[in-house]
Amino acid sequence: MATAVETMTVQAPDPIAVPGPLARALVERDQAVFAPCAGRAYPFVIERGEGCYVWDVDGNRYLDLNAGIAVVAAGHSHPAIVSAIQDQATRFTHMAGTDFYNEPMIRLCEKIESLMPRTGLGQTTGRDWQVFLCNSGTEAVEGAIKMARYVTGRQGIIAFFGAFHGRSYGSLSLTAGSSKQRHGYYPLVPGTYHSFFANPYRRPFDVAPEQVTEACLGYLEQTLLRTIVGPQDVAAIIVEPIQGEAGYVVPAPGFISGLREICDRHGILLIADEVQSGVGRTGKMWAFEHEGIIPDIVASAKGLGGGMPVGAVIGQTPLMQRWIAGTHGNTYGGNGVVSAAAYETLALVEQELTANAAEVGAYLQSGLADLQRHYDCIGDVRGRGLMIGVEFQSVPGTSLDGAAMAQQIMDAAFKRGGLLLMAGTSTIRFCPPLTLTRAQADEALAIFRAAIDDVLAA
Ligand code: PLP
Repeated sequence: MATAVETMTVQAPDPIAVPGPLARALVERDQAVFAPCAGRAYPFVIERGEGCYVWDVDGNRYLDLNAGIAVVAAGHSHPAIVSAIQDQATRFTHMAGTDFYNEPMIRLCEKIESLMPRTGLGQTTGRDWQVFLCNSGTEAVEGAIKMARYVTGRQGIIAFFGAFHGRSYGSLSLTAGSSKQRHGYYPLVPGTYHSFFANPYRRPFDVAPEQVTEACLGYLEQTLLRTIVGPQDVAAIIVEPIQGEAGYVVPAPGFISGLREICDRHGILLIADEVQSGVGRTGKMWAFEHEGIIPDIVASAKGLGGGMPVGAVIGQTPLMQRWIAGTHGNTYGGNGVVSAAAYETLALVEQELTANAAEVGAYLQSGLADLQRHYDCIGDVRGRGLMIGVEFQSVPGTSLDGAAMAQQIMDAAFKRGGLLLMAGTSTIRFCPPLTLTRAQADEALAIFRAAIDDVLAA
């Protein structure tokens, strides 16, 4: 039977010369004034966006397959979000949410709480979860680890190799994907440790795929917790239910639930970093729901704001009640305009976009798996919903290794009107807006295939 790839009817656009003159001029202006520490992927300069499409300043249209790094969950400039922003901006924009009260932030917290799993432990407030609002993923992680230390009275925080939790000092100390991100910033926060993530494709131990969970949990419990930091000194284990910047790595079955068990046994809090994987992206509201567990604390951001900067520390009420007044705060958390946009985004995600991510994500992933059967250079296709990674590997007949191949394919896709991004060293990630249609998934597959052909033919 012919595969979807063999019967592909959608044509990728012909390659164009990018950046155009207007984009090139803006890149030059940017280079003069913007700090060079941010390494850009390629010279795309947005002029406007609508749904899954964006236009650059030279008028070229692109299919956005990264959503501004998994942010614009409802697509670019969704009319309901734009109107919520406009409406709120005419009433008030900001009134320091951790010093005063405002209805948009309360409504947002109620909405977030309603989207969490029930624990039955929220008797004191009538709600199972409480929320602290902030401005970004790294700030959500900082809040989560501060809260964990504060309420447990313990210092240790355990994260995983490959993790990305952010770039501020606490989160950077937990981030362990590339030494370049840490170099020059030592000393980092003491009391932070790393263990092995159960990556079934690039296994950290020389074991069969079905043994990787046991090996990783075994190292954590038998080695790290026995020889380096005793469980009585560990406040929290923080984990991405799907590692994001490491290359969209879905952990081997039983790994996340095994962490939950270890935490329960030792009174350690489990923090799920859902900054990239949360808010409907994986086809469920939170990626931890695929694992049948409930974390103690969830860090959220990115998709939560639908394009506005917001983060949230979401904790089980009995814990949050012990995080007493005056021990944490900020200026912008609970900003009126941001809260209105986030509320509207969550309503869309809840009503339709999570289901769409599951359905179109499965369709896109099966098309990518077809491509894997077709191209030896694709080593692995994995993911959940619209959080899909395609990992490349070197093959006979080309001098390119997996990393160079992924990089060149991303560049070739840009020329053919598709905005992709790398994750990890040799993986291309697909994290489009959750509004992606099947027709747009077909377009994505056509662009991706043409880009692979371009690189293989070069
Ligand atoms: N946590 C995860 C899982 C992330 O993927 C990221 C960003 O990519 C962060 C935290 C940091 O978020 P931000 O860049 O908003 O600070």
